[in-house]
Amino acid sequence: MNRRTFLAGAAVAAGAAGNTSRLAVEGGTPVRETPLKADFFGTQYYGEEETRELNDVVRTRRPFRWYGPGSEPPMKVATFEKELAQRMKTRYALGVTSGSAALQTAVAALGIGPGDEVILPAWTWHSCYEAIVLAGALPVFAEIDESFNIDPNDIESKITPQTKLIMAVHLQGNPADLDRVLDIARRHHIRVLEDCAQSVGASYKGRPVGSLADIGIYSLQLNKTITSGEGGAVVTNDPLLFERASRYHDLGSLRPLHEKVVGGAKGDTFVGGQFRMSEFTGGVLVAQLRKLDRIVADVRANARRVYDGIHDLPGIKLRHLPDPAGELGSAIFLGFATKEKCEHFRAAMKAENVPVDHPGGSAILPIQPYIEHKRTVHPAWPSFTSERGRSIQYGAACCPRTLDILSRFAGPSLDPKYTERETTDIVAAIKKVYPQISA
Ligand SMILES: *Cc1c(COP(=O)(O)O)cnc(C)c1O
Repeated sequence: MNRRTFLAGAAVAAGAAGNTSRLAVEGGTPVRETPLKADFFGTQYYGEEETRELNDVVRTRRPFRWYGPGSEPPMKVATFEKELAQRMKTRYALGVTSGSAALQTAVAALGIGPGDEVILPAWTWHSCYEAIVLAGALPVFAEIDESFNIDPNDIESKITPQTKLIMAVHLQGNPADLDRVLDIARRHHIRVLEDCAQSVGASYKGRPVGSLADIGIYSLQLNKTITSGEGGAVVTNDPLLFERASRYHDLGSLRPLHEKVVGGAKGDTFVGGQFRMSEFTGGVLVAQLRKLDRIVADVRANARRVYDGIHDLPGIKLRHLPDPAGELGSAIFLGFATKEKCEHFRAAMKAENVPVDHPGGSAILPIQPYIEHKRTVHPAWPSFTSERGRSIQYGAACCPRTLDILSRFAGPSLDPKYTERETTDIVAAIKKVYPQISA
């Protein structure tokens, strides 16, 4: 088949007649000749700006954020922190080495430790669980709902007098239902941490994610919206939390810059880790952060084209979006009545060269063997030595709805640099395949 007849086939698929055209999986002509593939976001926007920032650090020989040659302190990480706080509409921002380090730092800032319980969704990245256990606290899983985020209806039954924190994780660009989570937390005097690692640049009811709860974290690792390969940040409006976070990320000390930022030290030195961000990382992130709005606008425009193209498909069911306008648009998910139909959809879309996948980038944590068996670095780990810690059970039995929901949804990842042709192909493939699967 030449390119011409291929395009003619795609045009038919995209039109009203698409509902009856033969699926590629059944021997029909695929919508695309080659598989569509999404790329990483931030690195596609790398350019002279990032190079200039890195060269600055090399030229001035100042790779360390607190001091170096010259009388003034280096300013890359400091500038990143200042501009991140402005962009996220928080009073304070702290650069750290990774999103995982940011989680550990935020949990420490909140003073979570042995004897405390933290509620987290059963579907999220490993780092959330690790941060809780590394603090010596006890992780308690809640189910997700069809937003793939923590189900507010499943939080209250998990609260005990020991519950100190809820982790609201905004997964795959979709803000969690924060109004409801914050309402529950306030009524029970529990703190809320927003993990925005997968939703940097998303917003909830007009406010940047990360700025709505007690404390927020971002990841700047390769897979996230903007990136320096590795990197993370903590944001908060609370000066005491910021002071504690800054101390924890720097072996307990509060450096002059941050002492000034919080208007003088209130607390004392305590044992911390060492998660300081380098000036190379800070420089790249200054350049990337200044491109964040463009990246978000680009990926949202592509998501909008796909949503507009499929919204009138009879019976279409999408992932629940607590705030559709605030979503990042990095993935679109369709729901099916059964797991079998969803698998059929995946196979058919793959044959059309528009592959779709189940929700990704996270793990169903309670069924991970190391979690199910409560494996830690030492047998007397405080998380699991109390009566409650010994008796709590993880495994599939604690998250049946999470397992069910994730098995019934699949969809395409979106790329901010997709051309109109590529988003048109996504729409054409869904319009061709979905009606023949859902029927
Ligand atoms: C990526 C991710 C993290 C951890 O970030 P790293 O920078 O990789 O350490 C934490 N939480 C979620 C939800 C993530 O997706």
